[in-house]
Amino acid sequence: MSQLVDNFGRKITYLRVSITDRCNYRCIYCQPEEPFEFIPHEEILRYEEIVEIIEETVKLGINKVRITGGEPLARKGVVGFIKKLREIKKLEDISLTTNGFFLSEYAEKLKEAGLNRVNISLDSLQEEKYKKITRRGSLEKVLKGIDSALKAGLLPIKINTVLIRGINDDEVEDFIRLALERPLNIRFIEFMPSGEELKDNYRDKFISVLEIKENLAEKYSFRPIDINSGNGPAKYFQIKGGQGTIGFITALSQHFCETCNRIRLTSEGKLRPCLFSNKEIDIRGAIRKLAKDKKNERLLRKKVIIKKLKEVVKLKPEGHKLNIKNQDNLPFQMSRIGG
Ligand code: SAM
Repeated sequence: MSQLVDNFGRKITYLRVSITDRCNYRCIYCQPEEPFEFIPHEEILRYEEIVEIIEETVKLGINKVRITGGEPLARKGVVGFIKKLREIKKLEDISLTTNGFFLSEYAEKLKEAGLNRVNISLDSLQEEKYKKITRRGSLEKVLKGIDSALKAGLLPIKINTVLIRGINDDEVEDFIRLALERPLNIRFIEFMPSGEELKDNYRDKFISVLEIKENLAEKYSFRPIDINSGNGPAKYFQIKGGQGTIGFITALSQHFCETCNRIRLTSEGKLRPCLFSNKEIDIRGAIRKLAKDKKNERLLRKKVIIKKLKEVVKLKPEGHKLNIKNQDNLPFQMSRIGG
């Protein structure tokens, strides 16, 4: 069977799937508080449609899938969905990105269903600030969620921390302490110019995590370590004497497009070649149109899925243009595409 290779020779082995645009949080850098228009249910891909698409991607060499959103644990039936994914032979790695709010209820069930690991977003270790950033989150619940994920063995656990100047940059050392004391992999992520509340004066709020890394290197002794089992965007380091690691994701200050191996599927059934590109291919429309044709329905759908996957891979740009000098607001809202 053929593989998915883009115009620049990159082999595509990773699919990021958003299963919902809905989220119980309204993070200030991600979504507006209100009013907020969600995609109508009938326009959201059904689980069985997503499973069918993933089955075909796996035949084309994709072996890693990350489930995201919106908040994926806010969509009903997510455990059964993971179970179905686990049945796909050759799908080696199934992971999920969550805000952690529902995780203490779900961790064990997700592990049993076949989920390999979780990434948990956590931008502050101070209850009040956490509430301010997420607008409706609970730090206590997320910390419990982290404990449950550790207990369930959803490992390695990666913690996503978006750094924003004047908001949480004073907490870098607290996060380092967390990585020292617990087997967690803290990833400092550069804030990208999307979202409503913070899009003005973006330059003042942006912090290069390369700079953060240099400052930390003066104080701590750390050595590179590979926890990725692949070519993910973060570079990880183990701090001497620590249980966990720290990582840096330099989406703006140092691009990692050369090694990008991913494509995306949005909750409304659009394939996207790159987070920063607004090109998309409508796979939902294509497969639903065919579903009406009962004869050879399944076979035809498979063919269409494969065709659309090949098309989106050919749209992958060599790299994105966003950098510290060119920080135009992104043409999307992260919750809609799936960060
Ligand atoms: N609800 C889940 C969560 O909170 O992890 C998954 C969806 S969320 C959109 C995925 C990731 O995107 C989160 O780690 C979030 O911090 C990140 N994100 C959203 N907007 C961002 C921005 N403007 N810059 C950097 N990261 C962003």
